[in-house]
Amino acid sequence: MEALVPAWTYVLIALAILVVLAVVAAVALALRTPRGKATPPAAPTRDVTPPPEVETAPEREDAATAPAEAPEVAPEVAAPTLERPEGTASRLVRLRQRLSRSQGALGKGLLALLSRDKLDEDTWESIEDTLLTADIGVAPTQQLVDNLRTRLRVEGLDAGQVREVLAEELLALVDPELDRRLQVSGEDGKPGVVLVVGVNGVGKTTTVGKIGRILVAEERSVLMGAADTFRAAAAEQLGTWGERVGVEVIRGPEGTDPASVAFDAVKQGIEREVDTVLVDTAGRLQNKAGLMDELGKVKRVIEKQAPVTEVLLVLDATTGQNGMMQARVFAEAVDVTGIVLTKLDGSAKGGIVVAVQRELKVPVKLVGLGEGADDLAPFDPRAFVDALLG
Ligand code: GDP
Repeated sequence: MEALVPAWTYVLIALAILVVLAVVAAVALALRTPRGKATPPAAPTRDVTPPPEVETAPEREDAATAPAEAPEVAPEVAAPTLERPEGTASRLVRLRQRLSRSQGALGKGLLALLSRDKLDEDTWESIEDTLLTADIGVAPTQQLVDNLRTRLRVEGLDAGQVREVLAEELLALVDPELDRRLQVSGEDGKPGVVLVVGVNGVGKTTTVGKIGRILVAEERSVLMGAADTFRAAAAEQLGTWGERVGVEVIRGPEGTDPASVAFDAVKQGIEREVDTVLVDTAGRLQNKAGLMDELGKVKRVIEKQAPVTEVLLVLDATTGQNGMMQARVFAEAVDVTGIVLTKLDGSAKGGIVVAVQRELKVPVKLVGLGEGADDLAPFDPRAFVDALLG
């Protein structure tokens, strides 16, 4: 009997354990089922599905409003490249001041010398030196000094009158009678064609951009041709100017014949009935024969379609005698009709206006007074002399 009790106890314990295990298993099953359902399928589906709806909704709203907003946004992005031209009056006032700053020393130096009590030979020599230093050139300097000597002796002038006489004589040298208008209009419904020539680095491309700006401000339609095909950078630079001033640029691949780009630009200009086509050319200073061939060809090819109305030679005022040499070479290669003198803001040698006009018998029509888009002024002889005399 004693042996049976423990046996029953074991059976009971075993049953109890089984019951407990069964209960635990049932509870575990009961608990696991709701947890499984709650976590994976339901929540993620909700998490994934609604957000796309929420996100798509704003996207759709954006898309719906996009057409209305896009035009407002686009010009804001483009605005920094397309600049507004400065008003003509304020531009000219500003540029005259800049001209006085760079050229004023010449006139002041001359006036100081001419106002001396005694105008001896040393003083006249100093006057000559001052004029030569400003690049006026030997012959014009001699002419000016002779005229001044005669007038001061004959007219016996006071200081105020000396200034007036000097102004008159300088103005005569600069020649106010020359026609300095830019020929930017064509005839028979064709565009005016402006060919811009000069050595690399003088400011040709910049000048083309600045002229484009002035014409656009005058509400003329303009096309630009990048016929400097030898340097990829030149066409890119003109492209940038085109964006700045709002003018389309016709280009060709690097190495194309410059004449073919010039031809294409003028052809498109005629087809689109624009007012003016500006053609930037290559400025390699190779031998004279090469230059003549190249520019001659560009001009001939253009003129198969429309006459070139203006050939502008760009000269850097800071280059002095070197600039004069370039002027001679270019003048032989192509019929120059006007001169653009650049970088007068960085040089006190404005006298080159006189020298170059005498040499080429062609008027200075424009002057560059800075790197900005509005830093180009028509050359006005009276304003120039005023600037010289400070
Ligand atoms: P290109 O090789 O003849 O086409 O010359 P660019 O147009 O490339 O000009 C050469 C450099 O001269 C550039 O840095 C221009 O910004 C600068 N330049 C052009 N015109 C003027 C000007 O009137 N004044 C000053 N200070 N710089 C100028």
